[in-house]
Amino acid sequence: MVHGTSIPVELKNVSLSYGSQVALRDLSVAFPLQKTTAVIGPSGSGKSTLIQLVNGLVRPDNGVVSVFGRAIDYAQLSGLRRKIGYAVQGTGLFPHLTVERNISLLARLKKWPVAKIHSRIDVLMGLVDLPLDYKSKYPFQLSGGEQQRVGLCRAMILEPKLFLFDEPFGALDPITRSEIHREFIKIQKISPRTTILVTHDLREAIKLADRLIILNQGEMVQADSPDAILANPASEFVEKFVHMQLDDFRK
Ligand code: ADP
Repeated sequence: MVHGTSIPVELKNVSLSYGSQVALRDLSVAFPLQKTTAVIGPSGSGKSTLIQLVNGLVRPDNGVVSVFGRAIDYAQLSGLRRKIGYAVQGTGLFPHLTVERNISLLARLKKWPVAKIHSRIDVLMGLVDLPLDYKSKYPFQLSGGEQQRVGLCRAMILEPKLFLFDEPFGALDPITRSEIHREFIKIQKISPRTTILVTHDLREAIKLADRLIILNQGEMVQADSPDAILANPASEFVEKFVHMQLDDFRK
């Protein structure tokens, strides 16, 4: 059972250090099917490391990372990555490729028929409200928010069952950000995918995620629905973290 598993991503007793710096310590966590889980925590708490473990970019020192019901086979990472939509801060678009070429990159690598690629691009651009005449533009001709939408289309082209988002909305201004949030929520309603979203913004996490995982210094300090965490912070750290962020929002 590859795609059919009800737990698409699972970490069991995972530890990882960079030299003497512990990034994650004995982390066990499962990410539920077709739900959005936000990973939040202060800078340096291990959020990016967690995402990079899931796409095999880094390997655990101890423990097992399973994706789609199987321990990651580090000799077969390209196959794994084709099943994962990955979007990072700054979009990672290729500046010398048009919007159309950026979005279709993975589909062309997979040698999809041209007609199928074209129709899929149109659907995706419609989904994120990008005008179709943007196809021939280059990234530098687009605003930050538009580039981000192109990045989302690119992550979605192969219809991955799993999305990994590492602060993908971090660099956007507040208005663009809330527009992209709306698109994200819309897409998750139409076609729910297992999504792991790293963010340092609790408000974003509450808005977009079904479940929150809070990290501190490489350890998971709470995992629950946003409501449950807000109502019952598991420790003084979580309470302070939540209050600090919520107070920030009122400014
Ligand atoms: P976050 O995403 O929450 O900011 P990271 O996962 O990036 O946290 O980092 C966790 C810890 O590991 C931090 O102390 C960070 O400095 C360290 N770290 C991350 N990447 C590297 C690396 N490539 N080399 C050395 N230390 C790293």
